[in-house]
Amino acid sequence: MAKDPVCGMEVDEDEAAATSEHMGKTFYFCAEACKEKFEEDPMKYMKMEKKRGCC
Ligand SMILES: [Zn+2]
Repeated sequence: MAKDPVCGMEVDEDEAAATSEHMGKTFYFCAEACKEKFEEDPMKYMKMEKKRGCC
C-alpha cells in the first residue's frame, strides 16, 4: 500500500486512480482530484511526507 500524500488515504498501487512522478519517486492518489492538487504544489505535499518521518 502507498499513501496518498494529499488526503493521507491508503492507496493500493495496482488500483490507484492516478499516479504522478516527482524527483524519481512515484506517488499514488485515490482520485484524479488529489493528483491535480498535488501537481499544483508538489513541494508542499512532499514536505509534509518528510516531516512525518523526522525526529
Ligand atoms: Zn486522495
